[in-house]
Amino acid sequence: LRILGIETSCDETAASVVARHEDGRGEILSDVVLSQLDEHSAYGGVVPEIAARAHVEALDGLVEEALRRADVSLDEIDAIAATSGPGLIGGLIVGLMTAKAIARASGKPLLAINHLEGHALTARMTDGLSFPYLMLLVSGGHTQLVLVRGVGEYERWGTTIDDALGEAFDKTAKLLGLPYPGGPAVEKAAQSGDPERFSFPRPMVGEARLDFSFSGLKTAVRQAATEIAPLSEQDVADICASFQRAVSRTLRDRIGRGLQRFKQEFAHLDIDRALVVAGGVAANQEIRRTLQALCIEHGFRFIAPPLRLCTDNAAMIAWAGLERLAEEFPADDLNVAPRSRWPLDKDAKTLLGSGK
Ligand code: ATP
Ligand code: MG
Ligand code: FE
Repeated sequence: LRILGIETSCDETAASVVARHEDGRGEILSDVVLSQLDEHSAYGGVVPEIAARAHVEALDGLVEEALRRADVSLDEIDAIAATSGPGLIGGLIVGLMTAKAIARASGKPLLAINHLEGHALTARMTDGLSFPYLMLLVSGGHTQLVLVRGVGEYERWGTTIDDALGEAFDKTAKLLGLPYPGGPAVEKAAQSGDPERFSFPRPMVGEARLDFSFSGLKTAVRQAATEIAPLSEQDVADICASFQRAVSRTLRDRIGRGLQRFKQEFAHLDIDRALVVAGGVAANQEIRRTLQALCIEHGFRFIAPPLRLCTDNAAMIAWAGLERLAEEFPADDLNVAPRSRWPLDKDAKTLLGSGK
């Protein structure tokens, strides 16, 4: 089976062809990603209108490029998978409409994929992971701890009640005068900083429920920065290092509880326990080290797919489509609508947090 995948939910335009072999193994035949970073960086964040226009301009060419690099024609594709939510509605419309047009013209089935499902299933393509496992998604728009029970079976165990973790990095960078995107800039500055100089809050630590909260941390950073302004380079480095320390300690507590809960829930099963990370924040070395150490303590495998597959890409969307086809999920109707909000788990309490 071979699928063409399309991803346009945020600021990456992406197309990919992925094959699933009879033994269940996935093979990425092509994976083209065009980041719009340069177009948004002047604004310090993603501008929806600019994003939608950029998707329109780039997508057709990227789809052709993905087919060309995979060396397949549309005839040799079994289905078209496109992200249909959650995300910025303009981009979603562009991707989904394009996928519908291709599906219609070629007579191939259309699969409308939840972006989060793409992130959730990636580790099965890269590491052949079997169900169940835990997935931590930490990106600019999402912070979720999800139990992945099976294809289409997800339980959201924790989510952020305010800012996403990547967003906290971006906002912290912005108020310290560091460039966008903030994550890499904060990490770099933190390398020469003192993580003990400021004791920033560790939101939610100790609470039984598994949610996250990062807006208080950002406020504490703002207060510290205002108090000691004007900031020297060393001050900025110390704030970044202390911020990162607070984030790591918070994740340690929150994810540690998640691993514990997983152990309890599946105590009766003799399984290879695993925690998978996804999202751009997974690039952060201190966060990786923290999670890795935590996994060793709790007897979990720590799985971090290659960064290019952790951040937004179309291979994960194609793969999610392949997993759905293999499980004989029905194809989607050509009038399926994009959804800017679309919780992965149907019973998610959308009042709690972003509902994304
Ligand atoms: P989504 O819609 O999936 O949330 P996104 O574009 O917001 O998409 P990604 O592209 O997965 O998310 O990740 C971008 C985020 O990752 C940004 O917030 C960025 O600051 C953060 N990030 C990137 N590198 C690092 C790093 N080294 N440390 C911390 N955060 C990082
Ligand atoms: Mg992105
Ligand atoms: Fe994403």
